[in-house]
Amino acid sequence: MHRWNPYLAPVMRELVVGRSPQAEVVARFLRVDKIAAEAQVSESLNGIWEALRDSAIIERVYPNEFQLSWERLLVSTAGPWFTCNRCGMMTAHSVRGACVMTGCGGRLSAMSADEIAARFGDHHWYNRYTQTTAFPVEVREHTAQLTTALAGVYKISADFGASHSWGRRCT
Ligand SMILES: [Zn+2]
Repeated sequence: MHRWNPYLAPVMRELVVGRSPQAEVVARFLRVDKIAAEAQVSESLNGIWEALRDSAIIERVYPNEFQLSWERLLVSTAGPWFTCNRCGMMTAHSVRGACVMTGCGGRLSAMSADEIAARFGDHHWYNRYTQTTAFPVEVREHTAQLTTALAGVYKISADFGASHSWGRRCT
C-alpha cells in the first residue's frame, strides 16, 4: 500500500512529504522546493497519477487500489550510471543532474567503467551474482508441518546423524 500524493496524508503530513520519493523526483524535475512549492508539486503528482490511470498503465484491482502489472516493467542496467557527490547513491536515471534521494540535495556525476568496477570490487553480492554460478538449494518442511510418517523419517535421519556424530567424536 502506497500513498501517491503525500500532500494528501491525513496525519504526519510533513513527515510523509519529506520521505516521499515521487515528490522528491517531481520537485527536482521542476527545480523547486517540495515544501515551499507544495501546490505545484502536488498538482503535478495528481496530473501524473491521472495520466497513469487514464492510459491504463496502472490498473484498478480493488476500490482505491491500483497495481502496475509486472508485464509493464523493464529492468535494465544499460546506459550511463551516475553517482551522487553527497550520499553516494548510484542511479541510471539523472533528473536534471540532481540526486533524488529524499533530503539529500546532492548533484550527480557520470561514472566511468573503472569507477563502477572500483565501487564493486569488494562488494559481496555483486561478485556473488557476476562471478559465481548458482548454488543448489534444498528446501524441506519444518517437522511440525509434516505428516507423521515423513516426520518419522526425518527423526530417524536426525537420530542417525546425532549418533553418527557422537560415534565419531568418541573415536
Ligand atoms: Zn544523494
